[in-house]
Amino acid sequence: MPIVNDGTMIILSSPSGAGKTTLVRLLSKLDNFEISISHTTRQPRQGEKSEKDYYFVNETEFKRLIKNQEFLEYAKVFNNLYGTTRTPVIDKLNKGKNVLFDIDWQGADQIRNKKLDYKLITFFILPPSKEVLFQRLSNRDMKDKLIVRERMKQFSRDLLHWINYDYVIINDNLNSCYSKIHKLINAEINNDSKDYDPEYIRAHVEKLTY
Ligand code: 5GP
Repeated sequence: MPIVNDGTMIILSSPSGAGKTTLVRLLSKLDNFEISISHTTRQPRQGEKSEKDYYFVNETEFKRLIKNQEFLEYAKVFNNLYGTTRTPVIDKLNKGKNVLFDIDWQGADQIRNKKLDYKLITFFILPPSKEVLFQRLSNRDMKDKLIVRERMKQFSRDLLHWINYDYVIINDNLNSCYSKIHKLINAEINNDSKDYDPEYIRAHVEKLTY
């Protein structure tokens, strides 16, 4: 059972292009919320800072961390390795901080299966439609049409995991999406009633499946 003063773990996952990273950044501005900074073997993108966006490490270092069992979870995503080290997360939770995880469904599965003694809330963020997703992916710096096509295919595979999350949120508008997540987190932490319509979500997922 979680201890009353412990922090809560909040996972946000989404297929690429659904806007999750911006949401995590917004939520981290709330009092008492902190982002878990992952390790990755991928190269930094322009503007990304080491120890702020990620701990950028090479494969040898990543494998050393795996061998030393330092990861709470790790996974291969788009040919790069990503992982969350255990100690900083547990330290934050024990100090009563709520920890935000921007991780994929593989990492979410691993953390869920660990059944840690901390409250866990999981969110899966979806785009309003395939057309909007296609536009968002095409507008990124990755102009390459092949990459966009590959990410659209990956989207259909990632979508299958929606069912394992506590809440699925549609990111049609950043502010309202943020506000929905914020309210649900508060309701979960305070054991209040939740404003959430699973049937609407099921219908939306079905629409995205075809
Ligand atoms: P990007 O390279 O675009 O920053 O992230 C690619 C994907 O890797 C995103 O879906 C992101 O949520 C996921 N990711 C980032 N850090 C981690 C991590 O520590 N563990 C796992 N499992 N996935 C991660």
